[in-house]
Amino acid sequence: MPPSIPTAQATYPIVETFHSIQGEGAWMGMSAWFVRLGGCDVRCPWCDTKESWNGQRHPQRTVADLTAEALDTGAAIAIVTGGEPLMHDLTELTGALRGRGVPVHLETSGAHPLTGTFSWITLSPKTYRPPRTELYGHASELKVVIAGASDFLWAETQAEQVSPEIPCYLQPEWHGGEALRHQMVEYILRHPRWRLSLQTHKLLGVR
Ligand code: SF4
Repeated sequence: MPPSIPTAQATYPIVETFHSIQGEGAWMGMSAWFVRLGGCDVRCPWCDTKESWNGQRHPQRTVADLTAEALDTGAAIAIVTGGEPLMHDLTELTGALRGRGVPVHLETSGAHPLTGTFSWITLSPKTYRPPRTELYGHASELKVVIAGASDFLWAETQAEQVSPEIPCYLQPEWHGGEALRHQMVEYILRHPRWRLSLQTHKLLGVR
């Protein structure tokens, strides 16, 4: 069977698109165009984008439309996020963006098969639906959200499965409170494999 060729007519359910800075992880501070896809079956109770869970509630937009918008912003990178974007076949979207010279990053829980081609993959595993085994080998960085003390052990089980070469981040759940944040700092001091990631876009009051 011949390889699939990206088609501008392919569509995806889109919760929102926006141009901002990447607030988290290794690319923090970079000008980025975000595309948030609808649909997520991971269902984290502390999720801050619950409106994204039902993909059928969001309008379909074409790859051509999305690519034109990404180029128009002049952002340095495109970040495909959700929801859980891997609930969709991302071949068409990433092919079109990369074909126009836009580096494409992915934010995923890893709960579904990898599709598409990316310059960078942020794997953010969730206890509620752990990553597929093969996703660990594709991670460019690991980012574990800490919502309670039991999540430190979960984070270690995840770090054991990724390459020792990649950066590993602990990120406090936004409503976790000061005591949890202090606990995280203490943990990182004693476990230097980890770095702290903060949602700096929220601290700055931007998207
Ligand atoms: S995986 Fe992400 S979008 Fe899905 S429920 Fe968890 S935090 Fe929300």
